[in-house]
Amino acid sequence: MRALSIDDYGIDHVAVREMPDPEPGPGEVLVGIKACALNRLDIWTLTGSLGIDIAFPHILGADAAGEVLETGTDVRGYPKGTRVLINPGLSCGACELCLAGEQSECPRFSMMGEHVPGTFAERVAVPASNVFPVPEHLSFIEAAALGVTSVTAYRMLFTRGQMKPGEWVLITGIGGGLAMSLLHFARPLAGRVYVTSSSDEKIERALKLGADAGINYREKDVAKEIRHMTGKRGVDLVVDSASGDALDAGLRALRKGGRLVTAGATAGGKATINAQRLFWNQLSVIGSTMGSHNDFSEMLRYVAGSKFKPPVDKVFPFDQGAAAVRYLEAGEQFGKVVLELATPP
Ligand SMILES: [Zn+2]
Repeated sequence: MRALSIDDYGIDHVAVREMPDPEPGPGEVLVGIKACALNRLDIWTLTGSLGIDIAFPHILGADAAGEVLETGTDVRGYPKGTRVLINPGLSCGACELCLAGEQSECPRFSMMGEHVPGTFAERVAVPASNVFPVPEHLSFIEAAALGVTSVTAYRMLFTRGQMKPGEWVLITGIGGGLAMSLLHFARPLAGRVYVTSSSDEKIERALKLGADAGINYREKDVAKEIRHMTGKRGVDLVVDSASGDALDAGLRALRKGGRLVTAGATAGGKATINAQRLFWNQLSVIGSTMGSHNDFSEMLRYVAGSKFKPPVDKVFPFDQGAAAVRYLEAGEQFGKVVLELATPP
């Protein structure tokens, strides 16, 4: 089968290569992939910046949707042809955290495409518990675009952030897939939604999608602007995936007793925060990673009910996977970058 892979670290080593066909093991489902979506994670993996030892050639990719081709032994209820999308978070399934339904807190939690071969391939074998039915209103391209960003956004806001109706929410770095999912999921419940970006154009588009106000963080002090716009009160919840300087700015934008949920470090993993502000203002800093099977399933119910379609910026034919990776790296996208497999497996 064809797979988008690397034979060494670096963007020049990304290519579609011929790889062995996977076989579904016990408890696994073999999915014929129709579309797969890129994430920033793929860039970190292929540049080696995650510091994980991987075996080359390594298949990239976390997000994908397709049809069930075959099932291994011990698998029931996944008829051939079922439209499914893959939750790429793998866990042991047997520890106390997995048994409590907190798969993303499993000590052996890993990601497809990062620690193990990924989903950018014509066929992928995954545990049956990691495949979910595609909501009826979504195409394969849209379903693939949901994946990591949607489940991460859902867990950040609701499971970890405990967002309540009417709250004022600040979403940093609008324009990427994660921030767009955060905007969509938060909008119907939030009292106000503020967004930040380094691009006025991205802010404009977010305002059209329902954000109440936006701040260009290259031009203005985000926390000061939020204080001004909220009558010095601050927001209830900040959802951030930048860290770096954005973490302290986020904390300064919170009301007393407010919460900041972080799920990424695109602006840098080291952050300086003021501990006095943290305790005096009784702030909570909460980490979040991916989501549990339950988060994934609840996210899909929300998507099905609200008829949400994740914004897709650009679709590339699978053979142009390397070009798609370069396009994502340039960071100009508004929504997801997706690969489409033209020929059915
Ligand atoms: Zn476990």
